[in-house]
Amino acid sequence: MSDCIFCKIANGEIPSQKVYEDDRVLVFNDINPEAPVHVLVIPKEHISSANEITQENSDIISHIFVVINKIARELKISEDGFRIVNNTGKNGGQTVGHMHFHVLGGRNLAWPPG
Ligand code: AMP
Ligand code: ZN
Repeated sequence: MSDCIFCKIANGEIPSQKVYEDDRVLVFNDINPEAPVHVLVIPKEHISSANEITQENSDIISHIFVVINKIARELKISEDGFRIVNNTGKNGGQTVGHMHFHVLGGRNLAWPPG
């Protein structure tokens, strides 16, 4: 989508600190980290939010979780644990309209978030 900031990051128009990339997903550092490790995992294809996931396009979700497993090991947060967050829509606190999964780690993350 032409005016989508994460589509622009996915196609290189806007720079990002890349952590991992393959043909379907990109992982990059969040610009405003909430933890020592805070990356965003996005599909390269524009999917607005989890509201748009259907049986037909849901393969991307399992792929994203396999990628999260891999990068968590590489970022050395697997053993102590980490948090995966997806914000959906207004009440979910979604501010960028391109589905993304936050992966946070490297410190003890209190719950519920304050
Ligand atoms: P959300 O509130 O779940 O939609 O999360 C959007 C996230 O995108 C926030 O954590 C922002 O800090 C992050 N963000 C926004 N613009 C950029 C950017 N250009 N590069 C990296 N992260 C960004
Ligand atoms: Zn997009």
